[in-house]
Amino acid sequence: MLNWYNGYSPIERNKKLQVSKRLMSKGTLSPATGPCALCGDPDVAVEYHDEDYGEPYIWTEPALFALCRNCHRDKLHKRFWRHSAWQAFIAHVRRGGYACDLKDPAIKREVSAYQQAIERGETCVLQQIRPYPRTIGTEWFANLRIDIESLVDTSARPRQ
Ligand SMILES: [Zn+2]
Repeated sequence: MLNWYNGYSPIERNKKLQVSKRLMSKGTLSPATGPCALCGDPDVAVEYHDEDYGEPYIWTEPALFALCRNCHRDKLHKRFWRHSAWQAFIAHVRRGGYACDLKDPAIKREVSAYQQAIERGETCVLQQIRPYPRTIGTEWFANLRIDIESLVDTSARPRQ
């Protein structure tokens, strides 16, 4: 069962999801293709994430993004309950890190240390992994709301 997100109810979210399934089965909407719009991994399987469930439906960015499962389910949708983990993950992405890089224990430890530094109010630097092609602060995920209230707040909807 879906939860509220960006001020859209489970019923509204499910309605767009059902329409997307119908369009994909007809071939009108193509399956999601990479790279992951959050971590930038070009080789990972991706799935759709909706930021905007408003009608008329929009099937492109910035309403609809292709994300890897890890970014989508473990990072983006859990940011409301894990603020420092979300901030640390964004810092990891901005040093050219992919979500899958966190399978490496050394990289995972480094990001955990970064997260703990944030929690102590300290600053910390992560080693660059790859070049980062985007402009820091202007990414679609840079200024997403992380307050739990935004889940049910209709003013969180991208289109009013
Ligand atoms: Zn990703």
